Amino acid sequence: MPENETDETTPAHRVCGTMPVHRRLLTEDPSYAVARDAVENRAFAFEQGLRTPARVGVTVIPVVVHVVHHTSEQDIGDAQILSQIDVLNQDYRMLNADVSQVPTVWQPLVADCRIEFRLASQDPDGAPTGGITRTRTATDTFGMDDAIKFTSGGGQDAWPADQYLNFWVAPRLEDPSVGEILGYAQFPGGPTATDGVVIAHTFVGTTGTARAPFHLGRTATHEVGHWLNLFHIWGDDGQGCSGSDFVADTPNAGGPNFGTPAFPHVTCNNAPDGDMFVNYMDYTDDVGMFMFTQGQAARMDATLEGPRSSFLTL
Ligand SMILES: [Zn+2]
Repeated sequence: MPENETDETTPAHRVCGTMPVHRRLLTEDPSYAVARDAVENRAFAFEQGLRTPARVGVTVIPVVVHVVHHTSEQDIGDAQILSQIDVLNQDYRMLNADVSQVPTVWQPLVADCRIEFRLASQDPDGAPTGGITRTRTATDTFGMDDAIKFTSGGGQDAWPADQYLNFWVAPRLEDPSVGEILGYAQFPGGPTATDGVVIAHTFVGTTGTARAPFHLGRTATHEVGHWLNLFHIWGDDGQGCSGSDFVADTPNAGGPNFGTPAFPHVTCNNAPDGDMFVNYMDYTDDVGMFMFTQGQAARMDATLEGPRSSFLTL
């Protein structure tokens, strides 16, 4: 980071815009609500063990990274993007070195999600590509209204969502209701033109403009988790104990955990082990999250055999 770079800030703790976008789509688009019911019914059946995954081996997801930049510095380099792909491939295969820091009691739950990510090698027309698009924009801060996902909105149109994970890199993300956010995703079942994840460039990858404490690529691990239909681990009900992520092997938790908590952090009668704040779907800093559970992996299986099954046959 250049020392003269002072016009950008870093949020004090993780903030993700996925749930506000989810609620907006439920309001705007009746077909989304219908699709979500089917997605959740399938996820429930897989997570409960009522359906067994047919998927074998590792599923490879082609990724197109759309770098939308207002300044030259925001036009992040290939190395930063590749460092992000590397992190995804470690975290979704349980190959991340810090998985050894998972508290002993949860180590049996850690899942190899059997998903890998590759920058796309073919564009939608079948021509060779590096899997990265670069778009100069007049917009310095995008919101959660999905403008960045349209060339007409100052961003870049999506590539076909049944063939690519669209990954938009934003100059900056801010919403009047929640302030600056690191990123957001669209759950399965939504409009194809806006399907994918959006992350501000300062929270992408492990090098270049990536900024502590969100400089280890875990924002993308978290957002892609949403894209594969994972909810936040505390159940998105504020600090209450009634919300659920619909995964039985993640402890019921009050609210999000921030920073790098000390084990255990007990809420919602979940003593002695407390909240699973080391999970990628909590709100801790990048250095403090290092696992998905078997139950979360089952929900991802349901997604890859349901709303995102097109990726099994590419
Ligand atoms: Zn989130």
